Amino acid sequence: MSAPTAAAVPCHRPAPVVAVIGGGQLARMMQEEASALGVHLRALVEAADGSTGQVVVDAPVGEAGDAVAVRRLVSGTGAGTRPGASAAQLQAAVPADVLTFEHEHQDSGLLAGLVAEGVSVQPGPDSLLLARDKIAMRRAMAEIGAPQPAWAEVTGTAEQIRAGIESFASHHGWPVVLKTPRGGYDGHGVLLVGSAAQLRDGQAATWVTATAAAAAGGPGGAATLGGGSLGGGAATSLLVEQAVPFTRELAVLMARSPSGRSAVWPVVESVQAGGICSEVIAPAPGLDAAAAGLARDTALAVAEHAGVTGVLAVELFAVEAPGEPTRLLVNELAMRPHNSGHWTQDGSVTSQFAQHLRAVLDLPLGSTEPTAAATVMVNLLGGETEPDDDAWARALAADPGARIHLYGKQWRPGRKLGHVNVTVPGDPSVPASPEAVAEARRRARAVVAVLRGEA
Ligand code: ADP
Repeated sequence: MSAPTAAAVPCHRPAPVVAVIGGGQLARMMQEEASALGVHLRALVEAADGSTGQVVVDAPVGEAGDAVAVRRLVSGTGAGTRPGASAAQLQAAVPADVLTFEHEHQDSGLLAGLVAEGVSVQPGPDSLLLARDKIAMRRAMAEIGAPQPAWAEVTGTAEQIRAGIESFASHHGWPVVLKTPRGGYDGHGVLLVGSAAQLRDGQAATWVTATAAAAAGGPGGAATLGGGSLGGGAATSLLVEQAVPFTRELAVLMARSPSGRSAVWPVVESVQAGGICSEVIAPAPGLDAAAAGLARDTALAVAEHAGVTGVLAVELFAVEAPGEPTRLLVNELAMRPHNSGHWTQDGSVTSQFAQHLRAVLDLPLGSTEPTAAATVMVNLLGGETEPDDDAWARALAADPGARIHLYGKQWRPGRKLGHVNVTVPGDPSVPASPEAVAEARRRARAVVAVLRGEA
């Protein structure tokens, strides 16, 4: 038999181009799945040698709020970062099929302009606002009838803001939780306030003063207090919430495509330390079927109501008491792959990164079925001292069954540098025993300890 001629070889379809804004670990992990799916990822990164810039060939450098850079990202007319990469490797001048994000701190006006010009922006700017502005999110949850903590928006002069918070506390009790509506992450922008006196002190006082100044039209506001740089202008109000006496925190992750296809992963438990996710257990151990169903329905309702596309994470507080139905309250939303979904890389048929690409491209979604009885994810945060050069190899040797994911980031105390997944083999339809889950946690923590240079 003769070799097939060139004409007989079926043509490859051109790779769809997904443009993503952001150069952190989430876009980096999208690249792994883009490679597998035959998708061309083009990322607008903050630094050529950052987490994403290291692994994406077509990675122009620019800021999320830079209209020229974003437009070039979409049109493919910017310069990629990889020295020596050919125009073909960069898919130069090939317009992106879709623009998406790895963080929600985007410029709504710029995105709305692109949508008006016919660019597919997924999720769209109106949806994205609910992940960017906690007051807009609270209003939307109220419209949907999604369960949430009691909340209020407080604004005006410093005196009026304090009076508003005190009045809220007189109905719902101290402590209350104060939040900057925009720009918060990993616990920055969230403050537990125990009494009226504490409002006049420390950080709470700073927030009240800055918000009052912004409300009066002055410079600087709560948007810049949380640590985010793209909060979208000064916040002229603060969000106050009842402090929920939750028994644990849960998250439900799903994906929805522009044509309305959706798929939901099992509800997970997320363990927070100092406002940062430290561990995730999938599925959430011992969660009753009614609560799991409610979490799922809430996520689907949010996605439908807000027209969310791509991956949506709904973080929830669970209030559980023996003999009583579990109460769930929405904490916040994220519209992108999320830390609570990193377990899907090793414990689900489809990872959240693959699903996000499929969803924003409006392709059929993958199965969200788990592939193990349980999966545990433990985050690697930088320890107090920099680990020695051997730590990495020792971690690989410590537990060959553990899956290590590193983000290519320079060590810094407290910085998210990677995560480790350990699965509990077994029939996914049969819950893993508490002992098996505890052992998986122990193993994942042990590998993380080696990576931190502590073992
Ligand atoms: P971030 O934007 O930093 O993720 P969150 O709104 O998720 O902020 O809050 C961070 C953490 O603060 C939550 O994971 C939870 O532990 C705690 N928290 C937030 N809101 C409340 C609340 N209303 N009641 C009790 N704890 C809360």
